[in-house]
Amino acid sequence: MTEPRPDSVVIHYHEIALKGDNRPMFVRRLTDNLRKTVSGLGKIRILTPRGRILLYLDDETPGPILNERLCGVFGIANFSPAYRCSTEPEAIEALVDRLLDSKTFKTFRISARRGDKTYPLTSMELNVRLGRHVQEKTMARVDLENPGVTIHVELLQREALVYFEKLAGPGGLPVGVSGHVLSLISGGIDSPVASYLMMKRGCTVGFVHFHGYPHLTKASLEKAEELVQHLTRHQFRSHLYAVAFGEVQRLIVLSVPPPLRVVLYRRFMHRIAEEIAHRERASALITGENLGQVASQTLENLTVIQEAARLPVLRPLIGFDKEEIIDRAKTIGTYPVSIQPDQDCCRLFIPPHPSVAARLDDVLKAESKLDVHGLVKMGLETVEMREFHV
Ligand code: ATP
Ligand code: MG
Repeated sequence: MTEPRPDSVVIHYHEIALKGDNRPMFVRRLTDNLRKTVSGLGKIRILTPRGRILLYLDDETPGPILNERLCGVFGIANFSPAYRCSTEPEAIEALVDRLLDSKTFKTFRISARRGDKTYPLTSMELNVRLGRHVQEKTMARVDLENPGVTIHVELLQREALVYFEKLAGPGGLPVGVSGHVLSLISGGIDSPVASYLMMKRGCTVGFVHFHGYPHLTKASLEKAEELVQHLTRHQFRSHLYAVAFGEVQRLIVLSVPPPLRVVLYRRFMHRIAEEIAHRERASALITGENLGQVASQTLENLTVIQEAARLPVLRPLIGFDKEEIIDRAKTIGTYPVSIQPDQDCCRLFIPPHPSVAARLDDVLKAESKLDVHGLVKMGLETVEMREFHV
């Protein structure tokens, strides 16, 4: 016998993230994000009874697509395709009978939860009553430790929900509750993961990419675009600013000794990114930098690079191992794009051994020979913005 179609989905969020005044804002944002998530999947109603979110599906809603989309919605701890009925114990028993028809199992457990504390039976009493009922109908045994089937029952004020499985959501906070940031995305492995982690902490993320055009191809930009498109599923809409950086680099090279070039490139990237951040109303810059991963990412160099920007520079990967970052990139789905070959602009005109500990004095001296303002302006004049949608 085939399983009946679920008519709803119960969504649970982490209660712990919801202390105090944040709760209504968090739930409202999560609900808004869910509305965008389910768009195009039929007429779905979204309700917010205490402590959870409910989706009422229609007959057309494609379950697998819906589940896949829900797995990308930050703020969801877990979710369950579910079946609704009225709250009388007899109605719940009848629904459970109907649902169990399509299942074979030797052991089971009932897990009842009351969202509505005025319900005449306690959770325990309902567990016992339903347990006895299922035992009589199916001859299966109760096993609380390792049941073949768990029958979850949630009692709300006007209805009961029955479901069997809890699917893991991605956790985190709903995108939009923590403000807006601008991520420097390179096309490599790390910066997409850093951007993802910021979204997971509730930020919306804008993106900026620097390519070496006209001295290199725009291949890295295509990768950045693909990565941004992929990440957009978590926030529904993204902006990517592409900066042609090759000419700025060429002018830096004319007067800056080779060992300092990478650090100077980065300082100019931060300056240009900061101007774009103001346009985007972003309140921090994000990078995929990671302490000691490559010679240029020493504490000394990170400090000197950051000195060029006034906005805070956040580095969500600072404490990660490279293996952890790669694992994350694979789970998130950015890895296959990131490892495609490209022409990274940072490798333009640099020596095999860039400085591992640039001194701010030396850097400022080198920059004093440059028209800093003019170079930033020149970079900004090349900016092209593209908008991405899910
Ligand atoms: P990634 O894997 O993100 O490229 P990485 O380990 O290769 O990082 P670097 O290439 O040194 O490290 O870059 C450090 C950080 O600087 C990147 O994570 C990214 O945030 C930023 N960055 C580097 N190159 C670019 C670029 N071309 N455009 C935008 N941001 C960049
Ligand atoms: Mg890189």
